Amino acid sequence: MQNVLDIYREEFYRCIKCGSCQPVCPTYIETRDESMVARGRLALSEAVVEGRLGLTDGLMDRVSKCLSCMACSESCPTGVDVVKLLTAVRSQVVEDKGLDPISKVVLRVILKNNRLLSFTAKLMGLSVRLYNFLPSYGIFGRIIPFTRNGIKRVVPPFGGKPLRKGLPEVIKACPDHSQKIDKPIPKFDLGFWVKLQSRLKDKARGNFATQSYMTNTVRSKIDDNAVFQDESAILNSAKAEFGPIMRVAFYTGCMTDLVYQDAGRAVISVLKKLNIEIVLPQGQVCCGAPAYYMGDRKSALELAKRNIEVFKGLNVDAIVNCCATCGTMLKEVYPLLLDKDAKEVSDKTVDIQKFIADRLEVFKLRTSYSALHTLKRVTYHDPCHLKRGQGVVSAPREILKSIPGIEYIEMKDADRCCGGSGTFNLKYYDFSMAIGKYKAEKIRESGADIVATDCPSCQMQLTDILNRYGVKAKVVHTVQLLADSLS
Ligand code: SF4
Ligand code: SF4
Repeated sequence: MQNVLDIYREEFYRCIKCGSCQPVCPTYIETRDESMVARGRLALSEAVVEGRLGLTDGLMDRVSKCLSCMACSESCPTGVDVVKLLTAVRSQVVEDKGLDPISKVVLRVILKNNRLLSFTAKLMGLSVRLYNFLPSYGIFGRIIPFTRNGIKRVVPPFGGKPLRKGLPEVIKACPDHSQKIDKPIPKFDLGFWVKLQSRLKDKARGNFATQSYMTNTVRSKIDDNAVFQDESAILNSAKAEFGPIMRVAFYTGCMTDLVYQDAGRAVISVLKKLNIEIVLPQGQVCCGAPAYYMGDRKSALELAKRNIEVFKGLNVDAIVNCCATCGTMLKEVYPLLLDKDAKEVSDKTVDIQKFIADRLEVFKLRTSYSALHTLKRVTYHDPCHLKRGQGVVSAPREILKSIPGIEYIEMKDADRCCGGSGTFNLKYYDFSMAIGKYKAEKIRESGADIVATDCPSCQMQLTDILNRYGVKAKVVHTVQLLADSLS
């Protein structure tokens, strides 16, 4: 492989050392150490590029403690892609020194094999049960991992039935035939039908070409004098009559498939209610994020190629995902790794919240029948890889504000990194908790009962920091709230 640092050599010099990244960098805020901010990390990396410094442990410590949150690039006047450059430094280290044995097995064997990954998740599930069973005080409080001041880490339930297992590769849109109305009941006139058709059509077009949507035959099939009981019944009738409005592929990602299956089920449920056919390729593999960010570029490349092979040419209008990091890999990192070979997959990849928000008008017809009767105060945490990685900011807020029974509250610094950052919170647990404390405080101050987000890694970290700092708020995926409201 070509010297990775050489690929980006010139880009290191785009940093003009202005320091605008300092006030926004969570690791600098926590440490006040110049070598823990983009400017310092890039200065050290430049020295490596110029041969003035070797790939020392000290350098690697600073580089691997970067959260890849992209806050620095957002405030950088010269637009330095800091995460890309620091990831290249990690890749160079892996090229020169290799991976440690555990990372080698995880990244090069387990992540590439779905069965092995699922089996590993089951083993982790058993370990989690044992972990939860053990007391957090006395000798156990000192020896069991991630236990501080008598408080254990909250770990999600690994090892449940994988989401994709048992589901067909094509999930049909789900028109509710039982609610189809044969005998029109006087209430709304045909004008509503026509409006509904045009609104659905406009929305369904959105950013994507539609394949088969209700055509003008709608009009010919409906008796001019037909009138219907309520809007949802009309929608169901339309679904039953005219088939799906779109066909999308669902990239689940490992964490949704193996740990946060409820979020994946919510995505499927909502898409079905939107009258969208879902393709769920069983051959999809890990997006490669753990390998890429840890510097194992070869493994990331291999996984990217396999996913592209699986998803390209599927004849779908979009590839949706409900994980900010997976989405950023498919949309932004695959083109870096594979250039134009990744274009089709990258262009079609869209975060589920954005996909839904672009079609929210359709849902407003249904959410008036919300099952969420009690008022919930909900705030939203922006995953770094969603806001800065893909530019998705307003979509989740629009969804949450559209759900009856939800009072949306914006927390302060909603886009500040929670400190999770994939494997960062495993390697540097105390540092991660220290960074997360600020987020926990902002959630507490918001007074929210629920924190919605769109990233399994954030979900795991937020649940843990809220427990650790005694904040009583629940963490869920945004789409779960929407699915609940539509049930
Ligand atoms: S990506 Fe985040 S943690 Fe890393 S240098 Fe930039 S702001 Fe700091
Ligand atoms: S804001 Fe950008 S140019 Fe300025 S020091 Fe940070 S990385 Fe360099």
